[in-house]
Amino acid sequence: MNGMVFIVGSGPGSEGMLTQHAREVIDTAEVVLYDQLPGEEILSTLPAGAELIDCGKYGGNHTLEQDEIEALIVDRARAGKRVVRLKGGDPFMFGRGGEELETIRRAGIEAELIPGITSAIAVPASVGIPLTHRRFASQVTIMTGHEDPTKPESALDWSLLARSRGTIVILMGVKNLATIAGLLVENGRNGTTPVAIIERGFRADQRVTVGTLADIGEKAAAVGVKPPAVIVIGEVVSLYDPAYPPLIPF
Ligand code: SAH
Repeated sequence: MNGMVFIVGSGPGSEGMLTQHAREVIDTAEVVLYDQLPGEEILSTLPAGAELIDCGKYGGNHTLEQDEIEALIVDRARAGKRVVRLKGGDPFMFGRGGEELETIRRAGIEAELIPGITSAIAVPASVGIPLTHRRFASQVTIMTGHEDPTKPESALDWSLLARSRGTIVILMGVKNLATIAGLLVENGRNGTTPVAIIERGFRADQRVTVGTLADIGEKAAAVGVKPPAVIVIGEVVSLYDPAYPPLIPF
């Protein structure tokens, strides 16, 4: 008989942000295929008796390719195991959880999804940046910065993004940040629009860098910003005040 696959979101990185249901499912797993993004605090609590498989996706370093990960999930589930696929944040927010679900369903295996708190919302929140605010933003766009923003067949509509007056949140955007900021300005967004980069949210060494669309590329390069980082663009960033401690203790 087939086992079952749980696609589990770890939340943004601290154990306190893991849901109770995620905790229960992880603790009773027979196989855990994990990414690095959940972070050391959570990864150090994986059940010792389970088969633990490091899928290692972190920036450009892939321990296993996506098709290999999916093949392992299906293989272990076919062997009758309770399989947990553990991902950072929410599994359906740029986590390829949707693709994995397709594969699991095609294989005729039962799946359950356990949502997680996405870094897109929680990481800015942890430094006191709400994505919406009656005075500043009535809409939010969450986008990937991973695809080459200059390729002609880009799935992103830069002119629409530039004209949208709401908050823009970019995941996986460190490498292309300067290009993205430039494209937004070229397409009409004001160069004075504030930008915050929050690196390693919910980790002890979290760091925030603020600037504007006009200078954020330079500032990020000057301090050596590295992934993982959440980038927030929009007037809500003006609410960030470094004088305050983290709004979400971790
Ligand atoms: N499914 C995840 C996102 C996966 S894409 C979620 O919902 O959070 C990976 C990107 O998420 C990273 O490149 C970074 O932009 C962001 N990210 C995830 N966790 C983060 C953290 N703790 N601090 C900063 N950025 C994080």
